[in-house]
Amino acid sequence: MPPRGRTAAPACSADRALLSTPADQPDGLLGPAAIRELAQQLELRPTKSLGQNFLHDANTIRRIVRTADLRPDDVVLEVGPGLGSLTLGLLPAAARVVAVEIDPRLAARLPVTVAERTPHLSDRLTVVEADALRLTRLPGPPPTALVANLPYNVAVPVLLTLLELFPTLDRALILVQAEVAERLAAAPGTDAYGVPSVKAAWYGEVRRAGSVGRRVFWPEPNVDSGLVGLVRRPPPPGDRAATFAVIDAAFATRRKGLRAALARWAGSPAAAEARLLAAGIDPTTRGEQLSVTDFARLAATDPVAP
Ligand code: SAM
Repeated sequence: MPPRGRTAAPACSADRALLSTPADQPDGLLGPAAIRELAQQLELRPTKSLGQNFLHDANTIRRIVRTADLRPDDVVLEVGPGLGSLTLGLLPAAARVVAVEIDPRLAARLPVTVAERTPHLSDRLTVVEADALRLTRLPGPPPTALVANLPYNVAVPVLLTLLELFPTLDRALILVQAEVAERLAAAPGTDAYGVPSVKAAWYGEVRRAGSVGRRVFWPEPNVDSGLVGLVRRPPPPGDRAATFAVIDAAFATRRKGLRAALARWAGSPAAAEARLLAAGIDPTTRGEQLSVTDFARLAATDPVAP
């Protein structure tokens, strides 16, 4: 049940509002009682628009951290730390965690929670209050791994934006809606294959990394979740923006053959056909059959005069 009730304790105060919940987990992780108490202190009403579903199961946190396979020198970028469930699990496993949170109350409270529960790791944490989609830079050394329980409605743009912005990110492990996990990791020719699959594949090798049920979240979402891992690899040759433009065009009219679907992109159906043939692609093929390497090759063909 969502916590109700209000406490007199003001939110986000370092010297007050200490958690009375005993450390129910030996490693300081947050269980359901601690999440409930924190939410009460902050008078938090989780919002759907910010995808605020907080993990309250320490075993799930341990599993995510294990799956992330962090190195002791990793600088982890966590988007949406929320009440700190995952942050507390990441801190012992990495050199630094940079946590980017859009909600000012949560951003202000996070250092307090970490100081209360794992004071010896406090200096590894940097909290940035910001919209992850509008970041331009981060303080400190560049991030090497993205590990996050992402806000579901912006999960794909956040992933793609951060992979573009921080080339030093060589791995990602994200928790997203099960359907999005399936789309991100889908192979060409499958029903789930689409724009997110191809664009993610431009950056790296993507794999499903396990399922997560609804009951480990507060509030419980009405969908299941899945972990997705990405390991960066050199991108296919050619320009990223040009490749992404042809991907968008090909999937905008998914059911059409590429000659028709790419007519606007190329200037005319005949120009689309010429460029497809130049890239060695049958013009009757549909976009969902092409790999990211095919799209990159197609984007690199010379424009044809109308
Ligand atoms: N990591 C926490 C956990 O696992 O319990 C919370 C995850 S919750 C699914 C998503 C978090 O992302 C929330 O704390 C929300 O406020 C934050 N958030 C939503 N949109 C954001 C954005 N554009 N940039 C940064 N944080 C965002």
